[in-house]
Formats: sequence, C-alpha cells, structure tokens
Amino acid sequence: MSKFQAPIKKNDYIDVTFEDLTHDGNGVAKVDGYPLFIPNGLPGEKAKVKVVKLNKGYGFGRLIEIYEESKFRVEPECSIYKECGGCQLQHLSYEGQLKAKEKQVRDVLERIGKLENVRVHPVLGMDDPWRYRNKAQVPIGEREGGLIGGFYQQRSHDIIDMDECLIQLEQNDLVLRKVKEICGKYGVRAYNEQTNKGTLRHVMARYGKKTGEIMVVLITRTQDLPNQKKIIEEISREIPGVKSIVQNVNPKRTNVIFGEQTKVLWGEEVIYDYIGDIKFAISARSFYQVNPEQTKVLYDKALEYADLSGNENVIDAYCGIGTISLFLAQKAKKVYGVEIVPEAIEDGKKNAELNGISNVEFEVGEAETVIPNWYKQGIKADVLVVDPPRKGCDQALLDTIIKMKPKKVVYVSCNPATLARDLRILEDGGYKTVEVQPVDMFPQTMHCEAVAWLELV
Ligand code: SAH
Repeated sequence: MSKFQAPIKKNDYIDVTFEDLTHDGNGVAKVDGYPLFIPNGLPGEKAKVKVVKLNKGYGFGRLIEIYEESKFRVEPECSIYKECGGCQLQHLSYEGQLKAKEKQVRDVLERIGKLENVRVHPVLGMDDPWRYRNKAQVPIGEREGGLIGGFYQQRSHDIIDMDECLIQLEQNDLVLRKVKEICGKYGVRAYNEQTNKGTLRHVMARYGKKTGEIMVVLITRTQDLPNQKKIIEEISREIPGVKSIVQNVNPKRTNVIFGEQTKVLWGEEVIYDYIGDIKFAISARSFYQVNPEQTKVLYDKALEYADLSGNENVIDAYCGIGTISLFLAQKAKKVYGVEIVPEAIEDGKKNAELNGISNVEFEVGEAETVIPNWYKQGIKADVLVVDPPRKGCDQALLDTIIKMKPKKVVYVSCNPATLARDLRILEDGGYKTVEVQPVDMFPQTMHCEAVAWLELV
C-alpha cells in the first residue's frame, strides 16, 4: 500500500497499540505504517480510537477506550488540564515524562541529525516537578462585568478564568488574582479582540525566587490606564514583595503580546534574582529562564562542558541578560556576549557591574551578524556557547563557527529538533558531538531542554 494512501476511513473505529509520543504530547499509533496522532494516548497502551481526520501521510484520531493502560499513566493533578493545553503530560507519571524526553532527544539526534552512537544521558529532573515557574503571562477578558484571566481554550480564543496554575510558583497565582480583582474594581475594561476596544490585554507576573521580589506588567492597548493612581497604590499595598509595576503599550491588532513602549508606573525598572551566587537584574522585556532551580543545573552543566582554565576567550551567543556569560566569566579570560533585545543587553551590563565582573563585553544585534563582524575584527573564541530560541542557530552563524574553529562548542537548546539539525551542520564542518545532557526545565509539558558538548576534531 502506498504510504500516502490511508488504510482507514474517517469515522472508522479501530483498535491500535500506541508506539510513541509526538513532540507535542500526542500518542502515535500506526495502521499498516500509516501514523495516527491521538491526544492522550501513551506508548504501550492498547485502545479503541475513532478516526477523525485523514491527511496525506498521517491522520488524527480520538481516544475512545483504553483496553490496556500504561504503567506510567496517572490521574492529572490539575482540574483544568484537559481544557488548558499549557501542560501536555500530566497524564504521564514524572518518571515516564523523563523517559519520554530522553527518547525524544535520542530519536531526533538519529533521525534528523543522523548522529548514531552519541551518548545521551538520562534527563536531569526535579525532585518536586510542580510549582516551579517564576513567570506567568495571561490574556485578560470579561465576564459579567468583572475581569477574568487565564488561558485560551484549546483551538479557540475564549478565555477560561484561572485561579491557580500548578506549575506556577504560588506568588504568581496571587499576583494574577489580585490584579484582576483590583483592575476590575476600578473599572478597567478588558481588551476585546473583535472590536479592538478596551484596555487591558495581558498581565505578566515575574517573581525572583531567591529575593522574593515581584514585577507586575500590565499590557494595555491604550496609553491611558483609567484610575491608574488608585490601581498602582492598591497593587503595591496588597501584594507583598511588589518592587516594580510596569506598563507596556500595544495598540496593534495582533496576537503578539508585547508592544514597543514600556514604562515604569511605580517602583523599580527591574527586579533582582540570584542564580547560584550571581545576582541578576531583570527588566520587563528581557528573557529570563522560567525555572530557576533547574537553570542552575543547566548552567552548571554548560560550565562543566566549557571546561575553562582561565586563559580562554569565550563567546556567548544569544546571551539574554548575560546569565551564562557571567557564569563563564568567573572562569575565563574574557567573555563576549551578543543578544538581539537592547533592554536585555542593558541588563547584562548592569549585571556585570553588580557582580564586579569586568572581563565581559556585550553587544546588541543578531548573533549571525555580530559574530561574523567580530571574526573580521580578529575576535576569535576558544570556546563558543550558543543558546538560541526554538528555531535554532542561523546558518550564517554556523558558517562562522566552522570558519572560526573554536576548540569547543557548547550548545544549549530548548528544541531538540533544531539542535539535531544544527549538530549535523557542525559535524559536517569538522566538529564531533561528544555527549548530550537533557535537563528538565519544563515538567508536565513536552518542552525539552538539552546541552550538547562538541569538540573540534
Ligand atoms: N542565554 C540566555 C538567553 C537564552 S534565550 C539565558 O539562558 O537566559 C534566547 C535569547 O536569544 C533571547 O534572549 C532572545 O532575545 C535572543 N535572540 C533571539 N534571536 C536572536 C538573534 N538572531 N541574535 C541574537 N539573539 C537572539
């Protein structure tokens, strides 16, 4: 049978055995080699499913009845797990989640990276895989005159109100509850996507776990926030630990959350947090890892792989607020950090100063533009660290790495598929992937972080 020809029909009921999980947490079952993706199915389970959609090469089904359950299946802890979609793996025990992520990394390294026999370590997980996130960001809507905020119901833009989120640190739950209540009380209207009217679009809460400091960001359509003075006064009084209240204005009709303009309404421009012994200033628009406990584990691994003696020049590409840069700077001769968000580089400079670290230099720009320029100016790295967003490294950056020939590359990745793609390119350019260590930064979700260590051969 041709692989494009589905051996089943829409609305058929069929019996399947799940073989795998997709990168977004769906169960995979095959019928004569034709893959069906079925939400909620777990590897090893036998079940009856209904065929709901057939495409060329793959289809979708709905789980009807499980005949034989996986020994890793558990009851989801969260009452809104099914509607929310923020977590994809609460029906899988934590042990099962770690195994699934390890397999995901192994599979893409083989399938996409064509890397056989690379050593992939078991995932470094959390002792308590709940209540770990330091940042919450929710869309705001209205119900019976009051404000609601939570998440979009799957495949829709209807907002479901949320009182608590079991992967958030409790402080963020409190901030979101209070901000909804206070803004609602003072007559702030929620932004309405259909009419492009109303004010409050999103609320973001960020919590410095080590310092207890809280930042509240109100993302509004308008410059004006009705009753601003009273709202600020009440937020600062009612939420212990609030150090910064910030407004971001986004007048556009768009799905993008943040607009261009950010202004401090009350308190500081930044909050502080520590990773290990290093203190970090974090502003509203800067990237900061969301799982502070595991961030330390991740950076320690990156540092171990970098194996610095104190004589090296190091480049930290996609450096954010300079977190990895400053970790490395303690052991290197000189660190150069590059990052595209100007506010993050401002934070990075502040952070170097804050910690009395003087052997780092930061530059704003695209890694794929700045690093080739550095190379032309004669700046070369002995060790190069990259930590790109999900889409991975730009080809121009990979080309420059291959020309620059740093002895070591440490690749921190939040997307195993693009990691595997980029490792293949670096391998073809003369590098050898020594080993890969996945770190679970996002328990209960399918998101998977990994650090790879490459040596020039
Ligand atoms: N290493 C940092 C940040 C990693 S997240 C940390 O661990 O905290 C990835 C970062 O890459 C983000 O800060 C994002 O703003 C930045 N970024 C995205 N595209 C970029 C590009 N083309 N060049 C440089 N930085 C980029």
